[in-house]
Amino acid sequence: MGTVGDNSDECKEIQSLIPGYLAGKLSLKEARAFTAHLKKCSECRDEMEISYLLDEGITRAENGETIDLHADLEEMLDGTESLIQYLTQYRNVVCLIESTAIFVLVACFLLLFIIE
Ligand SMILES: [Zn+2]
Repeated sequence: MGTVGDNSDECKEIQSLIPGYLAGKLSLKEARAFTAHLKKCSECRDEMEISYLLDEGITRAENGETIDLHADLEEMLDGTESLIQYLTQYRNVVCLIESTAIFVLVACFLLLFIIE
């Protein structure tokens, strides 16, 4: 693809993390890089939206739920971000539960969506 932009390599890397993020399988470090990048990169957000829609949208459509894609993703990213900030303050504990924590986070957000 050549050199499309300054951060095209970063974009490739971030986009490869999307399935992991949606599955709640990113490490804290990966999740941090992921949310930080998506906050500033609309290209990757688009990729994320497509994946999210395929993944989550279908499940919810089957349940007869409507989906507000943008709001959901905003919320998910904001939530991940604040959890990362919170967890970073408790690094010692986080080291032990790093991958679990992100999984729990995603599970919580999915739960929130269901409750709404
Ligand atoms: Zn990007």
